[in-house]
Amino acid sequence: MNRPLRVAHLFPELLNLYADRGNLAVLRARAVVRGIDLEVVPIRLGEPLNLAELDMVLLGGGSDKEQMQVASMLPQYQSDLHYAVEAGMPMLAVCGGYQLLGDYYETLGGDLVKGLRLVEMYTKAEPGTRLVGNIAIECSSIPGVVRQTVVGFENHQGRTYHPYLPLGKVLSGYGNNGRDGLEGLHHLGVIGTYIHGPLLPKNPHLADYLLTKARAFRGVQEPLVELDDTLEWRAHEHVLQMLGISKTTPAETSQPSESLA
Ligand code: GLN
Repeated sequence: MNRPLRVAHLFPELLNLYADRGNLAVLRARAVVRGIDLEVVPIRLGEPLNLAELDMVLLGGGSDKEQMQVASMLPQYQSDLHYAVEAGMPMLAVCGGYQLLGDYYETLGGDLVKGLRLVEMYTKAEPGTRLVGNIAIECSSIPGVVRQTVVGFENHQGRTYHPYLPLGKVLSGYGNNGRDGLEGLHHLGVIGTYIHGPLLPKNPHLADYLLTKARAFRGVQEPLVELDDTLEWRAHEHVLQMLGISKTTPAETSQPSESLA
């Protein structure tokens, strides 16, 4: 089948906090420069999801209000997305979108926002400090790279709990719940994270990991051509410096780990 690689942005009119769609711009740019045709497919709330035509899915962040709007329509997507996850389709879910992957998100007011139940996970907004600021994590689940830090910005009231592998360990910031030192989730092809920014511009290794996964899901195993990411890494290092994390973190000196998938 000769068609472009396709990445769906679910509910872009509601789930696009802090320019989460920038993640798709990065994926597209990194594909195009390598001669790979990549199409972003917006799926507005209520529109059908044609999984046979897709290679990856993005769920961006959203405020409680937007999450509630989305949640009311999620049952129509649940079984298709469940099938996609089990089939190993790569999926990136950020903050409000990450929370919606699980069983529920309980707001500060006690409303229960029912999620997609794609993973066993729940989120509860707890009174007190909002978990806001720049964040850096040590991420051991991205194969083939020497630098394993991931950086960005988080802003959430929800505290998330799940039994899966995290995306990484918090070096600075709050992560899933501000308690256990873990950030995000990495299960099958699904990456859930609280990291906005958007996530991918300052984390080219993660962008290429997702691109590789989307291609592999399509049956293309060829490795990606290396790009000159000097500027991207400079932006990444800048966040690490702001957070007082030295360039030679254990993450950077250790050997890359094996892929989880
Ligand atoms: N409404 C959620 C929270 O505050 C998610 C916010 C977001 O997507 N940044 O926990």
